[in-house]
Amino acid sequence: MEFVTESLNDILKKRVEEFTPSGFVTTCGAVTKVSDGVARVDNLPGCCYGELLRFGNGVWGIALDLEENGVGAVLLNAGAAVNIGDNVSGTGHPVDTPVSENVIGRVLSPIGAPLDGKPFKPKAYAPMEKPAPAILARKPVCRPLVTGILPIDSMIPIGKGQRELIIGDRQTGKTTLAVDTILNQADKNVICIYCAIGQKASTVSSVVMTLSKAGAMKYTAVVAATAADSPAMQYLAPYAACSMAEWFMEQGRDVLVVYDDLSKHAVAYRTMSLLLHRPPGREAYPGDVFYLHSRLLERSACMADSEGGGTMTALPIIETTGGNISAYIPTNVISITDGQIYLEAELFHSGIRPAINNGLSVSRVGRAAQYKAMQKVSGLLRIELAQYKEMAIFARFGSDLDAGTRQTLERGEKLTALFNQDKNKPYSLGEETALLLAFRDGAFDGVPPKEMKKRIPELLQYLKSVCPEFFSHIERRHDFDSETEETMKGHFGRWAELVESR
Ligand code: ATP
Ligand code: MG
Repeated sequence: MEFVTESLNDILKKRVEEFTPSGFVTTCGAVTKVSDGVARVDNLPGCCYGELLRFGNGVWGIALDLEENGVGAVLLNAGAAVNIGDNVSGTGHPVDTPVSENVIGRVLSPIGAPLDGKPFKPKAYAPMEKPAPAILARKPVCRPLVTGILPIDSMIPIGKGQRELIIGDRQTGKTTLAVDTILNQADKNVICIYCAIGQKASTVSSVVMTLSKAGAMKYTAVVAATAADSPAMQYLAPYAACSMAEWFMEQGRDVLVVYDDLSKHAVAYRTMSLLLHRPPGREAYPGDVFYLHSRLLERSACMADSEGGGTMTALPIIETTGGNISAYIPTNVISITDGQIYLEAELFHSGIRPAINNGLSVSRVGRAAQYKAMQKVSGLLRIELAQYKEMAIFARFGSDLDAGTRQTLERGEKLTALFNQDKNKPYSLGEETALLLAFRDGAFDGVPPKEMKKRIPELLQYLKSVCPEFFSHIERRHDFDSETEETMKGHFGRWAELVESR
């Protein structure tokens, strides 16, 4: 007798074909235990993971632990009054966020409540969690996202669809860097979403003020869950921002999302997990904390033309303590992203703004997307700066320096001064190219390093009056030819003479 055995593959295939989704079953239960923003609910047999739950007196929660006889839920409302025995009902749908054009210019909570005091009518909703686009739906990063910050655009370029981490200690200019990048997107047709997680409400409002003053709220939406909000709300904020950005990306638009910051996000998730009695791991974070950030950042993409060609660039921010970038959360996020901009407290306090440490900052995919004009002028800057740093350490000990060393040191000092940039004053691509070209062609040779700060705006003003066509040409073509290079050299020479004659 012969046994006819079905292969495992056939069985599973049949099971998948037979499976008909039953949808969400709305059921009722009662609270059996409640403390610190976490509730246990018995019954609710049809409850799904991540389902929105409605508690008795206008309180909302999300189901995060599905157990045999009940559900563990975190409450969305901070300090909510939930009592044992309160009724709980499933809403039948996962927690979602408003998406559409009308989120632009608004300050919203993750679930779409307006925080700017004006009424808000959502047009459509999208779930906060979604799988990331598949590899075949993507294409390599090929267009630059110009930040307007000279050291970044020249040495650590960011491409549209890239995920570039901004990492540094507290008060080192992380938020400023991200906000300046948003400011620079005016008239570049990029939608920006700024997501504030676990920050003070006053800090968020000052960012919103900066954005509104510069007219950036015309193309920016702010999603905020402040330190006063519940950990669950803080946990949801970046996913909500990501869903909003994803909606624009699906329309073929370019989007920039800033997550400020993911350290606080991880802490909010740790709080939730510990209250849900999940086992703690390293630094008391739960075991799935890597997945918390990877599933968020994987959703940033540069979509293939067949999928609309939209892009979502992510600038996650991580706060370190004592410059320790090898702690658990920083290393996790460094490994997920396509590069990092490392801001150093020591540089910041010595007056270098933005305080970027070039040795530890890198952009893994941006170089391929850099504009030709920038490629032509930025080739050797990193090496030059690294040589200067190395030499500067040794020069501190010796007094007798030969002429060559002294020249390298002075050039390095001037380059560092050139890379100093005031906040909220991004350069245009033309200005960036002109400055680097001037530096390369020795326009600053006769300028002492201490005078650089004064001379840079003077040079830009001079160039704008004698050759305005250079700036408009670079904005349009993003490139220049050898003839233009020669003409510019002449202008630099005349400017240097002018400065010396004064
Ligand atoms: P936190 O850790 O509190 O979030 P942060 O790292 O986001 O801080 P910022 O708030 O961006 O830092 O900046 C800290 C301070 O440094 C602010 O007062 C800001 O005005 C100043 N600052 C940052 N960048 C610059 C700059 N390029 N020029 C002048 N001041 C700057
Ligand atoms: Mg900040």
